[in-house]
Amino acid sequence: MEDVRLERIREIIEPLRVEAGTAVVLERDFDPGNTGDMFDKKDSKRLLTTGVEMLDYYQSRLAAQDTYGVLLVLQALDAGGKDSTIRHVMSGVNPQGVVVHGFGVPSSEELDHDYLWRYQQKLPARGQIGIFNRSHYEEVVVVRVHPEILEGEQLPAEARGDGIWERRYRQINDWERFLVENGFPVAKVFLNLSKEEQRRRFLRRIDFPEKNWKFKARDVRERAHWDEYQIAFSEMLSATSTEHAPWYVIPADHKWFMRVAVAAVLVDTLAKIDPQYPTVDDEARKELAASKQELEAQAPDGVAADPVAEPAGKE
Ligand code: ATP
Ligand code: MG
Repeated sequence: MEDVRLERIREIIEPLRVEAGTAVVLERDFDPGNTGDMFDKKDSKRLLTTGVEMLDYYQSRLAAQDTYGVLLVLQALDAGGKDSTIRHVMSGVNPQGVVVHGFGVPSSEELDHDYLWRYQQKLPARGQIGIFNRSHYEEVVVVRVHPEILEGEQLPAEARGDGIWERRYRQINDWERFLVENGFPVAKVFLNLSKEEQRRRFLRRIDFPEKNWKFKARDVRERAHWDEYQIAFSEMLSATSTEHAPWYVIPADHKWFMRVAVAAVLVDTLAKIDPQYPTVDDEARKELAASKQELEAQAPDGVAADPVAEPAGKE
């Protein structure tokens, strides 16, 4: 893959990365309306096409190499645009190589296990890109904003109480480090929506009948906790953006920019792996030559021995 396109990709995501150890205050540090150096949807279209092509390029190599797997973590507030981002960003990729899992309210079986159990079950295999639509980060965000959820997690006394969030941040960082060190890079994106844009998107879901199914009155009740969510997300970003698995805060008010940026984060993750098609060793090359001879001997009368061979002299 040539460097100019990768350079451009990295130029886009660099300012969106949360450097390990920085204390994030979302409203102060990240503008949801930011569109980098892009002016409008038209401007971004070519870049999205490029991003999608690059994803396809890397994904087929990732699958063939079968050594690394990639986990893309998507977090957002309601109406942040997770679903449509997945649809657009993954639009050019072989569906066999991508697995998407959404996580909602945990079942009683899930609550009967440690809080990372259900996420562990859905991790991508080697060769795959796994997407978490909501993720283990709900365990330090929604659970923090609503302490009654924690009450339902059947935790022993020593796992509750003072320091629980710091402990969970550490456990999540350790878990991700384990994954990264074993061939599973973790890319994390937070779709950062403004309060006013969320209001508009909810109204759109109410005003347009074909969008009604997406609207839940519960989402408007959650909106009342906006400030608490901003704090929970800010602290989570500060504590869990690490060298091995950094967070990217993606401005989400303009969907066209958001999609380009998410594609760029994923392309960058894959480019760092730089997966390669397996090469054939001498033994296998001999077998190929023998099979070729056998097939050529079976050519019907009047047909070239190998009609698909590259013409001599052509590279
Ligand atoms: P959409 O954007 O289309 O509404 P969604 O991801 O919001 O999709 P929903 O089924 O509407 O999906 O909501 C899932 C709900 O599950 C969210 O309210 C989320 O906060 C909640 N949830 C996710 N993980 C947990 C968890 N570990 N504990 C408690 N609630 C959780
Ligand atoms: Mg929802």
